[in-house]
Parts: sequence; structure tokens; C-alpha cells
Amino acid sequence: MTHPGEPHRDDLSGRLNWLRAGVLGANDGIVSTAGLVVGVAGATTDRTAILAAGVAGLVAGSLSMAGGEYVSVSTQRDTEKAALKLEERELREMPEEEEQELAGIYRDKGLSEELAARVARELTEQDALRAHAEAELQIDPDNLTSPWQAAWASLASFAVGALIPLVAIVLPPTGWRVWACAVAVLVGLVLTGVISARLGSSRVGRAVRRNVVVGSLTMIVTYYVGLLFGVTMG
Ligand SMILES: [Zn+2]
Repeated sequence: MTHPGEPHRDDLSGRLNWLRAGVLGANDGIVSTAGLVVGVAGATTDRTAILAAGVAGLVAGSLSMAGGEYVSVSTQRDTEKAALKLEERELREMPEEEEQELAGIYRDKGLSEELAARVARELTEQDALRAHAEAELQIDPDNLTSPWQAAWASLASFAVGALIPLVAIVLPPTGWRVWACAVAVLVGLVLTGVISARLGSSRVGRAVRRNVVVGSLTMIVTYYVGLLFGVTMG
């Protein structure tokens, strides 16, 4: 029973999953776009070239994240739908065994023989498929993740993350570009590190340090690759 104003546990964990996916997408957007624009800035001082590379990276990254998410959530959804269909058939063809199976699950969870049988009885009378989906398959049949929603969410979060290094590198004058971008990226990575540590209830310091080290290494490597390329080609 859900009381008004009190979030259902599944809704809450669902929302946390979305938030976590969003933070990860933003993090990817920050790091990969930072690597790209810093690398190009190592090779050239041409603002248009840096901007073009950054925008292309933003678009390509967002689309590829969205596509990947769409495929993975669709696959998961197909698997869940197939499992529900099978369950539906089993309930139709052997309702007795299915009710016993449900009672068995509650017995294994620690309920007494009679109570487990009664729980199974009442749940079966209410909504047998839902009862089996939740107890056996751990899925909510009315709330399967939408592939499109997941795709949009990763597209948007990657794009938001990508904007941070992109804006920071094209706005300042030439000499300041790479430093301004590095500072903006580090601030962004500290933020996503703090949020993801909070969400996963892990140690904030460690998550932030890891995030910042990975981001910095990416920028340093691509900058020197770009520099080398600019020197040999230019
Ligand atoms: Zn079943």
C-alpha cells in the first residue's frame, strides 16, 4: 500500500537509477569532449577548428550513447516480456503448481507453511501474474523501462556534460584556452564524482580523486598527442 506523499520503494530506486545513469552520461560527455578539444587545441590555435571538433564530438557521443542505451534497454525489455509471457502461460496451464511455487518462495523467505500458503492464495486471487513477476522475476509488469526514455536521458546527459569543456575552451583567448578548459573540467568532474559517490553511498573522497585523475590523464595525453601532431603536420 502506498500512502500519498510517501514514495514507493520501487519508484525511489527507479529514480536513483535514472539519476545515476544521468551522472555517468554527463561524466562521459565531460571526459571524452575534453580529450577531443584539448587534443585539437594542442595541434592548432584555430578557434573554428576547435569548435567544430567539439561540436562533432558532442553530437557523435550523444548519438552513440543514446543508440547503445536504446539497444541495451530494448534487449532487456524483450527478455522481460518473454519471461512474462512464459509466466502467463504457466499460470494458465498449471495454476495449482504455480500457486504452490509462489507459496514456496514465501516459505523460503521465512514465512510459516500456513502463512505462505495464505499469502500465495490471496496474491493469486488479486493479480497472479503481478505476484509471480515480482516474486520470481523481480520485475514490475506495469513499469518496464522504456528504451526511448533511456535513450533520451543518456543523449541529454552526455550533451550537458560535453558542453562544459566545449564552452570553456572556445570562449577564452588563445593563451588561456587549455587552462580554462582544464579548470572547468576538473570542477565538473568533482561535481559528478561527489554526486555519484552520494548516490552509491561510497566514499566521496575516493570517488572524486579517481574521477579527477582519469579526467586529467585523458586531457594530458590528448594534449600531447595533439601537440605532436601539430608539430609534425604543421
Ligand atoms: Zn510462476
